Amino acid sequence: MKRKSILALLACAMLTMAACSNGGGNGKSGEGEGEPKIGVAIYKFDDTFMTGVRNAMSVAASGKSALDIVDSQNAQPTQNEKIDLFISKKYNSMIVNPVDRTAAGVIIDKAKKADIPVVFLNREPLAEDMNKWDKVYYVGAKAEESGTISGQLLVDYWKANPGADKNGDGKLQYVMLQGEPGHQDAELRSKFSVQALQDAGIEVDALAVDTAMWDRVKGQEKMQAFLAQFGDKIEAVLANNDDMALGAIEALKAAGYFTGDKFIPVIGVDATAPAIQALQDGTLLGTVLNDAKNQGAAAVAIAEALAKGETPTKDNTGFDISDGKYVWISYKKITKDNIAEAQ
Ligand code: BGC
Ligand code: CA
Repeated sequence: MKRKSILALLACAMLTMAACSNGGGNGKSGEGEGEPKIGVAIYKFDDTFMTGVRNAMSVAASGKSALDIVDSQNAQPTQNEKIDLFISKKYNSMIVNPVDRTAAGVIIDKAKKADIPVVFLNREPLAEDMNKWDKVYYVGAKAEESGTISGQLLVDYWKANPGADKNGDGKLQYVMLQGEPGHQDAELRSKFSVQALQDAGIEVDALAVDTAMWDRVKGQEKMQAFLAQFGDKIEAVLANNDDMALGAIEALKAAGYFTGDKFIPVIGVDATAPAIQALQDGTLLGTVLNDAKNQGAAAVAIAEALAKGETPTKDNTGFDISDGKYVWISYKKITKDNIAEAQ
C-alpha cells in the first residue's frame, strides 16, 4: 500500500513537472505563460526586407514576450481587422507596419480608446498622427540618409572610372527603379541619391524613373523595358531597394551585361542576403545596410516596455529615443570591401 502511494505521488510529481516545462517559456514566441502579449501586424509577409525584420523580432522576443505576428496581405482593410482582433484579445501592446502610412491616424484613435500602446515600424506615420497620443512610437531609419549613401556609392564609381561616362558627354545617364509611391523611403531615397550626385558636381540625365513597387519581378520587367528603349545609353541603375536592383540585374544579364567587360553600376538598398551574394558575384556594385536586426529588436524592446506600463527609455530598451517617440537606426554603406559589416 505504502509503496503504491509513493509511486503514485512520484508519477503525479513527474506529470506536474512535464506540464510545467511545457508551459514555461520554451523560446517559441506566443507560448510563454505570463509574458506580455504583443500583436504584430506586418504590411505583407511577402517582402524580403520585412521578412528579415520579422525574424529579428521573433529572436528578440524569445523568452520575454509572446508575439502574435500576422500578415496584412498588403491591404489596409485586412490590417484594420487584424488590429481590431488584437484589441478584442486585450493584448498589452501592438507593433504595426502599416500598409498605408496615412492610415496610422485611425489606428492610433482605436489604440488610444482601448489604451493599448502602439509602435509603428518601417512606414513612418505623419507627424500630426504621431502627436495624437503619448503612447505612440516609431522605429525606423532616416530615409534621406540611405538616399545620400546610395548616391555616394555611384559618385565613388564615377570618379574612379573615367570610362563610366560611356558616351563621353560629361553627364551621367541613369535610370531609377522606385519603391511604392507615397512611402517615405521611396520618395526620399529617390531625391537624396540624385542630390548626392549633384552635390559631388556630377551632371545627371534621368533617362527613366518609374516605380517597381519594391518588387524583384517588377524590377526585372521595368529594366527590360528601359533596355528596350535606351539600350547602352544607360550608364547606371539606381534602385530604391535590393530586390528591385536584383531584378534589374537579371534583365541586364539577359542583355549580355556582367560578362566579359560589359559592366554597368547597379546600386540597391537593404543589404539582404541575396544582395550580399550579388556584391560577391560582382553584379551589384553597392548597397546600403537597412538594419533589420536592430529595427526588429528596437520595436520589440519598446513594445515590451509599453506592455509593462513603463515609459520606454534607453535604460529599459537599450535604444536611444528621440523627441520622446522616435528610434532611428542608422544606415551603412556596403560594398564588396566591407560585406562583414552587413551581418
Ligand atoms: C525597404 C524595402 C521594403 C520596404 C517595405 C523599405 O525600408 O528598403 O525593401 O520593401 O521598406 O516597407
Ligand atoms: Ca554620359
